[in-house]
Amino acid sequence: MNIKNYINGNLHDPIQNNWLDNYCPATGKVYGQIPNSSEEDVENAYIAAKSAFPSWSQTTLEERSRILIRISELIEKNLDKLVEAESEDNGKPISLAKTIDIPRASSNFRFFGNAITQFASESHESVGLNAINYTLRQPIGVVGCISPWNLPLYLFTWKIAPAMAAGNCVIAKPSEVTPMTAYLLGEICNEAGLPKGVLNIVHGLGNTTGQSIIEHPDIKAISFTGGTATGAHIAKVAAPMFKKLSLELGGKNPNIIFDDCDYNDMLDTTVRSSFANQGQICLCGSRIFVEASIYDKFKTDFVEKVKRLKVGHPSEKSTDIGAIVSKPHLEKVLNYISIAKEEKSKILCGGNQVILNGFENGYYLEPTVIEVPTDECRVNQEEIFGPVVTIMPFNTEDEVLQMANKVKYGLSATLWTSNLQRTMRMTNQLQAGVVWVNTWLMRDLRTPFGGIKDSGVGREGGFEALRFFTEPKNVCIKY
Ligand code: NAD
Repeated sequence: MNIKNYINGNLHDPIQNNWLDNYCPATGKVYGQIPNSSEEDVENAYIAAKSAFPSWSQTTLEERSRILIRISELIEKNLDKLVEAESEDNGKPISLAKTIDIPRASSNFRFFGNAITQFASESHESVGLNAINYTLRQPIGVVGCISPWNLPLYLFTWKIAPAMAAGNCVIAKPSEVTPMTAYLLGEICNEAGLPKGVLNIVHGLGNTTGQSIIEHPDIKAISFTGGTATGAHIAKVAAPMFKKLSLELGGKNPNIIFDDCDYNDMLDTTVRSSFANQGQICLCGSRIFVEASIYDKFKTDFVEKVKRLKVGHPSEKSTDIGAIVSKPHLEKVLNYISIAKEEKSKILCGGNQVILNGFENGYYLEPTVIEVPTDECRVNQEEIFGPVVTIMPFNTEDEVLQMANKVKYGLSATLWTSNLQRTMRMTNQLQAGVVWVNTWLMRDLRTPFGGIKDSGVGREGGFEALRFFTEPKNVCIKY
């Protein structure tokens, strides 16, 4: 299917008529074309957003809330269509798109549709001075939202829903690798009665379309999720223009396992936290550290379970591991497996491309477990973002804390233990924006989400997102 830009509530071809091939990862075949939008397309989106802003920013919170919740309902109504599109575009198992991605896109709209009606600003009485201070939370204007390919509609809506709830008008760019569900969302927004120009979706490459968004002098805030190098580039462009930035970037997250944990729960969850979505979740626990006393047992049990995961076509219900998102990404992940071998790591299972019967050109890879000789090797330090995890033993709490924190990233960490004192000590010291204890990827949308160090700046989620998408203005009245 060919897709178009969604500007001012209508579908448009790119002005310069530049198009990109869209590949289906499960088959390796081109199955449609997407616009590679230019500066002029972004400018048209900007004009539409700018003219929608005066009215949208003055729309009552109840009305904005009603429209957002209606979008949420329509996503649910179109669940099957969106699930199929997401799976075909991204290569993720259809079961995952159905249970996680698309329901979460719906929840994002519902959550922020409700949250905006609860978002109250503070007031302070200046006692003895006959003055009262209050804080207005005003929308910024036209904002840019740029999202990656791994959780396409999930992360796209995680940005645009709070941006619109707060009264902004949006220019959004989904990843050029997975544009399909964002495209389908345009139609849903029209059906929900979203006024024209409040949301504008432009498609294209990062260094053309994305670059035009971040360089636009009147787009005053950018919410970005993607790779750390891209985040650094965006910060460099945006800083001299004093744009507000939220950057959600890469991760290399530790999964720390002590021998006093609930072993079976830990084992099942660790398989999931390693390989869900082909390991292409920024929160995957890609570095597994296991207390030496249970290391051999864990290694045997884990590898046995991983070997049982079924690599298959994403549309098959029995598939655990679908396709890697693109050919260049498959090659990147395979290159890391070669690096592991050069570094004298041991491949305990996996490590090979899979050629599926009937889908020989698809991008499939075995789930791979690498036993590393030291935490300092590259596969243990650099983000691979595929179905590849490293494992190694540790002896003491201090030793594992040091290794866990010795990477440039600080997105999430998982800890498995039943010892409360240890939990408190370690959660205080782990360098991460999110720490899970005896669970993984449990998300309450009210909580702040984001990373430290090279994993980004700023927080999304709950009122943090609404704070990002508004400017606080202090008003002081003497009476
Ligand atoms: P990417 O940085 O290559 O691309 C992300 C988005 O940025 C895409 O839409 C892309 O077109 C756009 N882009 C690229 N160059 C640009 C430029 N010069 N100007 C403006 N936009 C530009 O990342 P990716 O490969 O799509 O996604 C994978 C990365 O995303 C991984 O590093 C992963 O950890 C990270 N990620 C982080 C989170 C988080 O919440 N921290 C969540 C998901 C993914």
